[in-house]
Amino acid sequence: MKTMAIRDIKKYPDPVLREKTARVERIDAALERLIDDMVETMHDAPGVGLAANQVGVPLQVAVIDLSSRDDEEQRHPLLVIINPEVLQMGGSVTEEEGCLSIPDYAEKVTRAARVKVRAQDRTGKVFELEADGLMAKALQHEIDHLNGVLFVDRLSALKRGLFKRRHRKVLSEKA
Ligand SMILES: [Zn+2]
Repeated sequence: MKTMAIRDIKKYPDPVLREKTARVERIDAALERLIDDMVETMHDAPGVGLAANQVGVPLQVAVIDLSSRDDEEQRHPLLVIINPEVLQMGGSVTEEEGCLSIPDYAEKVTRAARVKVRAQDRTGKVFELEADGLMAKALQHEIDHLNGVLFVDRLSALKRGLFKRRHRKVLSEKA
């Protein structure tokens, strides 16, 4: 029987979110387990994407699930990306974004409108994917995570300053 578990999602400013993750060299039982847990953790949150360092494992693995989107054009089966790299980017779009590691915060971010990504699936097979819309946004957001980059790093200096002030306030209220 497959056992899955919901893992703890690391929250900003946990230093693991700033780590540049390591390449996956071997797909073994521990990695299979990690992927299953990440999918369950993402669904439980709920969210549409999760990177391995968000659950404290600094490896190049992320999951994206757009399978329950109402709009058919944006819908995509559950995607597992291992060792992803962006091959091409095009256009520009500014849309609201949030992150499971930064709860209760959303802000507009400018990103490429289209991306072409090469990655390995959970069996290790290399594939390429061209995406626009929500999938393009999710791919860029998750690949950023794997490089230790958060969406708040992509805000304008003014908005980033407001975010940091707001965040310090939240932290001091919790203390
Ligand atoms: Zn995120």
